[in-house]
Amino acid sequence: MAEVGNELQRHAAEEQQAQTDGFHLVIDALKLNGIENIYGLPGIPVTDLARLAQANGMRVISFRHEQNAGNAAAIAGFLTQKPGVCLTVSAPGFLNGLTALANATTNCFPMILISGSSEREIVDLQQGDYEEMDQLAIARPHAKAAFRVLHAEDIGVGVARAIRAAVSGRPGGVYLDLPAKLLAQSMEAEKGRKSLIKVVDPAPRQLPAPDSVDRAVELLKTAKRPLILLGKGAAYARADADIRALVEKTGIPYLPMSMAKGLLPDTHPQSASAARSYVLAEADVVVLVGARLNWLLSHGKGKTWGKPKQFIQIDISPTEMDSNVAIAAPVVGDIGSCVSALLGKIGNDFAKPGADWLNAVDERKEKNLAKMAETLAKETSPMNFHSALRVLKDVVKANPSISFVNEGANTLDYARAVIDMYEPRKRLDVGTWGVMGVGMGYAVAAAVETSKPVLAVCGDSAFGFSGMEVETICRYDLPVCIVVFNNNGVYKGIDKNPTGGKDPAVTMFVPGARYDKMMEAFGGVGHNVTTPAELESAVNEALRSGKPTLINAVIDPAAGTESGRLTNLNPQSSASK
Ligand code: ADP
Repeated sequence: MAEVGNELQRHAAEEQQAQTDGFHLVIDALKLNGIENIYGLPGIPVTDLARLAQANGMRVISFRHEQNAGNAAAIAGFLTQKPGVCLTVSAPGFLNGLTALANATTNCFPMILISGSSEREIVDLQQGDYEEMDQLAIARPHAKAAFRVLHAEDIGVGVARAIRAAVSGRPGGVYLDLPAKLLAQSMEAEKGRKSLIKVVDPAPRQLPAPDSVDRAVELLKTAKRPLILLGKGAAYARADADIRALVEKTGIPYLPMSMAKGLLPDTHPQSASAARSYVLAEADVVVLVGARLNWLLSHGKGKTWGKPKQFIQIDISPTEMDSNVAIAAPVVGDIGSCVSALLGKIGNDFAKPGADWLNAVDERKEKNLAKMAETLAKETSPMNFHSALRVLKDVVKANPSISFVNEGANTLDYARAVIDMYEPRKRLDVGTWGVMGVGMGYAVAAAVETSKPVLAVCGDSAFGFSGMEVETICRYDLPVCIVVFNNNGVYKGIDKNPTGGKDPAVTMFVPGARYDKMMEAFGGVGHNVTTPAELESAVNEALRSGKPTLINAVIDPAAGTESGRLTNLNPQSSASK
């Protein structure tokens, strides 16, 4: 009898062992598809999911606010071409992550927001569950796709669909809703294993139609003043060598959008960055490579674009064509395939642009670069944006493989113009929305994904949105050096309350604030610097040591312009002009 009892117990134990559950299946499905990192914030009902993910060898980076975790996941997607995964709790946590998901979709970054959710039956009858919210419905308009999984045996399909939706075609944000009950569901381990899907070719190449390539090359041949415009889609596509070959073989001047800087080094002789206004206004044929004619490019029309021109547009999304102006030669496909097809058709007989055009561009460039050098060389006391950026320009030149995160208004505009980038996908900034608050999320993910140092240069206002993540940076001991350009306020730090009342002006912060102390509070290194020499030594020390560092760079409170370069979008100040 005892033997039978033991046998039964052994059987029961085996049965027990041979079970799996929703928690494990989600983790197994992610791992099976090469996803190694999760950015998130644990809590009910995903605490155990995060714990188990860590226990199963995934790297789980826990943040202090879901929006920052979401931004980290989004930029991880941009950096790796794999969907960055953000994990949040239900309702409020989900909503915090949703801002980042919408931002990822807007920027064409592949990301999956996985949120735990309350019980469907209660949510749908609106019976007031813990953190009740119809998350799927809310996520849908902000995501490229949104899925919910109700049965453990469907987790493999849910994760596979989320991955495909995030990275195929135009990348974007995907929402995956996992009700608490699903995570606890158990099923036979073997069946569970078989239900998982290893996605084959998640972002298939999309070859352009040969006649579209011919049309584009024919148009390019007629150009007298051609221009190539590289966008962050080109950076994402990782077709670096072919893009460089296209630029160099054709001899056409090129302009990088901000996150495409470094695709070719900004010091490349064909870079027309320093003659941006001139080339945009004067060009007659413009080749857009992974760049949209949105507000960042004045919608392809108006004064910025001056003379009439024709566009060749390379993009994976067919519906991007003609979105703002007529596209004479659309080339639809993935950038790698499109650029290599163009290269195949551009023979050695391709006539490089005439000397008139190239000399005119060079002339503008040299004039503007000389002007910039003069501005940078000025010694000012107190330090202003330019004297501080002069130092950082040299730091990036000496350390071209570090990631450079940049957000703010003036801090963003000036840094984009002053700091040359030398390698692709190293400049990470506010992107399509021009949004504040991506700084620390991007910095954390850049450090995690590249294992290289990160220099994050943030305006004091921008830093405030995600500043609490300095604790995360310290906790994970990441080689992140943050420089806060502190001019005591939004845009500037000298505004007065128009009523003369006790409250400060709406754009003011505490004057003389010491952001460096925040980093010290968590065991990192803090510096307060007031001169370019102090700034230089503090940044170099941070890069050398790899220790989490925050440098409070005191900038003249009177420096800075209202809304940075976006004054035209500010109704009051543009009306008063
Ligand atoms: P920027 O802000 O730098 O101008 P955008 O985000 O406006 O860049 O544009 C990026 C474009 O690149 C989008 O239209 C997107 O569809 C496209 N894109 C992204 N990845 C690829 C790819 N692999 N192949 C082709 N086009 C791509």
